[in-house]
Amino acid sequence: MRRYTSRMATPNLLMIPGPIGLTPEVLRALSEPQRGHLDPNFMQAFARVLKRLREVLGAPQAQPFVVAGSGTLAMEMAVANLVQPGERALVVNSGYFSDRIGAMLELHGAQVTHVRSEPGDFPSLDEVERALASGRFKLMTVTHVDTSTGVLAPVEALAKLARTHQALCVVDGVCSVGGEALEQDAWGIDVAFTASQKALGAPPGLAALLAGPRAMEAWKARTKPVAAMYLDFAQWLPIHQAYEAGTPSYFATPAVNLISALDVSLGQLLEETMPARVARHVRLAKAARAAWTALGLEPVTKREELTAHTLSAIRYPAGVDAALVKHVAAAGVNIAGGLHPALKASSFRVGHMGAVTPGALLETVGALERGLRAAGHRFEPGAGVAAVQRASM
Ligand SMILES: *Cc1c(COP(=O)(O)O)cnc(C)c1O
Repeated sequence: MRRYTSRMATPNLLMIPGPIGLTPEVLRALSEPQRGHLDPNFMQAFARVLKRLREVLGAPQAQPFVVAGSGTLAMEMAVANLVQPGERALVVNSGYFSDRIGAMLELHGAQVTHVRSEPGDFPSLDEVERALASGRFKLMTVTHVDTSTGVLAPVEALAKLARTHQALCVVDGVCSVGGEALEQDAWGIDVAFTASQKALGAPPGLAALLAGPRAMEAWKARTKPVAAMYLDFAQWLPIHQAYEAGTPSYFATPAVNLISALDVSLGQLLEETMPARVARHVRLAKAARAAWTALGLEPVTKREELTAHTLSAIRYPAGVDAALVKHVAAAGVNIAGGLHPALKASSFRVGHMGAVTPGALLETVGALERGLRAAGHRFEPGAGVAAVQRASM
């Protein structure tokens, strides 16, 4: 028997760690008539996106690059332009996406050293410092929020260490930029990259990278060419400079509609203001944590100060497995299963970034309670919802 509900015409509430739900204004930008990539209106939108990204990341001096592709392309753009074969790179490794950039660095010929920790933990600053002191590193990479563990890295302190040891600091901000505090210039971050579909609140399909002055110098000082045309700053720099100067130019067709949507989304971020947006993410993350505790669930992260504000990674309680994700979906909310190989069978993830309201969090925790009940977990019904109410009212 089919049961008709008001949700049938609309998809489930999307609470995975990207892509995230979009505001009506961003959706509307996607349905505008198609414009060409040299259209004056689009030229202004593209120039505004670059300016707004500098503001969102606190990087007035940085050169932004926005190209069609996902966060992984932004990651590869950083790697391809900054390392030359034989150079050394240090990966401060907090999970799945740190492993990915490590593999990518090796593919581009770098000699890679990892400083690792248990999943859910983070290497100590002492360990990182010892590793940096052990050799001459061209760059150090940090995953600001590792989406596989929900671990938030102490980026400001790490960037300082990299500077002391004359290594460029590259930050993977795909799951943090737009939700977590990040001050690229003030913290001495040389490259930060992200993607459109996570805390920036736009659809998937755009890679964004901001290169500070030291990173651009390092790129200019290369003795070997970048071995990928689509990734090469040399192809994209004149295009981005031209759009900012009001004279569009062509190398490869920009994702016109996505850039227009990102322009609207970045405008909304800056209207809320970054400090207010970060504070809202902190508040919602605290309310979410209170709910997990009230339901007898444990976060993957070992300590509270390591816990990200853009998503939660949570261990399944005893007797519950990945079927929970399906039970929660049946209750109207999409959450995500585990991603880290060591946590895949034992954890799930809930995204709470972007235009998330306390109401959406209540709906999510309510659906989680129904899913947990269907999976056989015992708890006081409403305990999670009450915890969100107490923490967010
Ligand atoms: C999602 C994510 C990526 C990869 O981004 P894609 O858009 O899926 O390619 C890289 N790093 C982190 C931290 C992420 O969360």
